[in-house]
Amino acid sequence: MEKPHFYSLPKLSYGYKDLEPYISQEQLQIHHEKHHQAYVTGANAIFERMDKARAEGVDLDEKAILKELSFHIGGHLLHTLFWGNLASAGKASTGPSGILATAIDKEFGSFERFKKEFTQAAVSVEGSGWAALSFCRLTNRPLIMQIEKHNNGIYPTFNILMVLDLWEHAYYLDYKNLRAKFVEAFWNIVNWEEVRKRFEQLLR
Ligand code: MN
Repeated sequence: MEKPHFYSLPKLSYGYKDLEPYISQEQLQIHHEKHHQAYVTGANAIFERMDKARAEGVDLDEKAILKELSFHIGGHLLHTLFWGNLASAGKASTGPSGILATAIDKEFGSFERFKKEFTQAAVSVEGSGWAALSFCRLTNRPLIMQIEKHNNGIYPTFNILMVLDLWEHAYYLDYKNLRAKFVEAFWNIVNWEEVRKRFEQLLR
């Protein structure tokens, strides 16, 4: 089967209400249907511009278009990872297990220490961005990534195990300017099973 040539908005594996009280239905729905969709639409519109320019044999402004494309693709892929590492409130486990737990303990000393560092990274993202737990296969180190916008600060080839969206559009309806409250709430809805699965998959 031929693979699709454009991006599409992924469905969530839970309902818009299911992350309450940590993320409200209104907040989650607008985030998914409007904000995430905008990056999908943005990337696809650039593909169309590229296809058209190539078909017509006209030049593209490569610098401008690639900068824009990186932003939209980063936005789409990070949101897709983000939805996947969230779980319905009440169904989320309290922390990592298995080899993920072992790797976190080995690197950070303890889960509590990891949580503290990740929280500090998340709260201190400058402007709009993300905090991510990533993994470097060359050193076998889990590393926290602090991403600005959707694409700055990413380490090439590092796999992302877990991300947290720190754009104001992710939390403003629920928490106004209180980003730290949102980060605190996030820990209640982490899908640790999924984070562990991502880790196991890349070690295969
Ligand atoms: Mn977002």
